[in-house]
Amino acid sequence: MQVYNGKSVFGGIAIGKIQVYSKGEQQVKRVKIEDTEAEIARYKAATDTAISQLKGLYEKALKEVGEANAEIFEIHQMMLEDDDYQESVENIIKTQNINAEYAVAQTGDNFAEMFSSMDDEYMRGRAADVRDISERLLTVLHGKEEQSIHAGEPVIIVADDLAPSETVQMDKDMVLSFVTVHGSLNSHTAILARTMSIPALIGTDIPLDGTADGKLGIVDGTNGVIYVDPDEETLAKLKEAQQKEVEKKELLLALKGKENITLDGQRLMLYANIGNIKDLAAVLQNDAGGIGLFRSEFIYLEKDNYPTEEEQLQIYKTVAETLAGKRVIIRTLDIGADKQCDYFEMEQEENPAMGCRAIRICLTRPEVFKTQLRALFRASVFGKIAIMYPMITSVKEVRRIKKIVEEVKKELEEQGIAYGEPEQGIMVETPAAAIISDQLAEEVDFFSIGTNDLTQYLLAIDRQNIALDEFYDSHHPAVLRMIAQVVENAHKAGIWVGICGELGADLELTQEFLAMGVDELSVSPGRILPIRKIVLETNVAEYKASHQKTW
Ligand code: PEP
Ligand code: MG
Repeated sequence: MQVYNGKSVFGGIAIGKIQVYSKGEQQVKRVKIEDTEAEIARYKAATDTAISQLKGLYEKALKEVGEANAEIFEIHQMMLEDDDYQESVENIIKTQNINAEYAVAQTGDNFAEMFSSMDDEYMRGRAADVRDISERLLTVLHGKEEQSIHAGEPVIIVADDLAPSETVQMDKDMVLSFVTVHGSLNSHTAILARTMSIPALIGTDIPLDGTADGKLGIVDGTNGVIYVDPDEETLAKLKEAQQKEVEKKELLLALKGKENITLDGQRLMLYANIGNIKDLAAVLQNDAGGIGLFRSEFIYLEKDNYPTEEEQLQIYKTVAETLAGKRVIIRTLDIGADKQCDYFEMEQEENPAMGCRAIRICLTRPEVFKTQLRALFRASVFGKIAIMYPMITSVKEVRRIKKIVEEVKKELEEQGIAYGEPEQGIMVETPAAAIISDQLAEEVDFFSIGTNDLTQYLLAIDRQNIALDEFYDSHHPAVLRMIAQVVENAHKAGIWVGICGELGADLELTQEFLAMGVDELSVSPGRILPIRKIVLETNVAEYKASHQKTW
């Protein structure tokens, strides 16, 4: 048995025959030509063919993996039509009296090198795309059929690297997994693989000399390992793990793509909580309707100094674009209490959970707040971003926030920087906010109830203190009654209300929340489908008639 390690792109276990895929190098000869105009026309005709192939791939991907992931084939079309790229090819043909194949290969290499040397990680990832479009053009110019992966039985594909066009052309019934030696976690191929739900590894140290070809392999996507020729014990162990995965997947698969609607027609928005862009794969994988809580403070916690406006903009833009028009609620930084950041140089506090945290920091350090708001307003141009403010206790605070927001917008306006108009809501996570939720509802677009803090402040129990676990009753009638009151007040004012604290993911309360009229639950991605199952099986009117309120 040989064991090789790589980075996981998508979890799960695949067991099957390995097929080592090699691209069949496209040999490009340098040939002198007389008629450069005719050669340019040949190049243009090849571009047209390549574009129509890409249109076909776009349609295929659109059906199989959705618009956001199909977009790469539109980007490839645009790259082929890019003036710089076209001018470079035509110029090489004209000035060197050389064949189109050579000019395309040369341009592809030059552009790929240029992208690879860029600082921006996203732009570096585009080197693979420019190579991909150049290879496509060469295939057309050589008069060859498009390459694809054909296997007579389901296989584990092992390759040096896979271009997005190769990944999407895989017949999913025939591919159990893919494992590459190169590739990046942010590449479109990786994104596509996740959406296709195929266990996949990149950066794997497996040799491509053909020794693994045709042998039995096991890809453990979760732990980033591929076993070649596994011994019996490993095989038995991973088969058992695979069986468990299958059972889990069956439940999930059956529910994917379904609307969250009860038997009597009540809808629920089911969103995901994230702390990092690395969580986005799980968001898509679990069919979240949006992001209900992006804990932006993690961006601050991962750094040694304040993240800049540009750094934040890139992150928020990535999230907005990945969610492709679905709502993304980004909470402004909630530093303080258990989330301490040295460079904020906060005073030592006797009682940090009740100290200077979250919005209190933002209102006392407007320059820090403004940097984040600028990034959020700018990122709103790229998707449906909503901003949420944490730890609100009063109308006065909301009005102070609004004033700062107006200043930020005015500054952006004056600087000629584009920005969108995100929805703005608040977390209801202090008893004060819950009690005056009727007044607060008049000020904002939505509420999201933070039950973690709401419970801590309502029951006067430190949520961090494990010794108090027996007293921390998250189903306490005071908590549930308060949630119901907040929902009622939100609806009276005509705004929607969700829950993004851990209680929202408590399956014992899903029906209760539906009965209260909660509009949205934002939970960890893995909880979305189990909650959807309950929603689909619930008749809210019947539930209400047959259940006594315990709060
Ligand atoms: C909450 O308090 O319920 C909440 C969602 O915020 P956090 O857990 O980040 O404090
Ligand atoms: Mg909180």
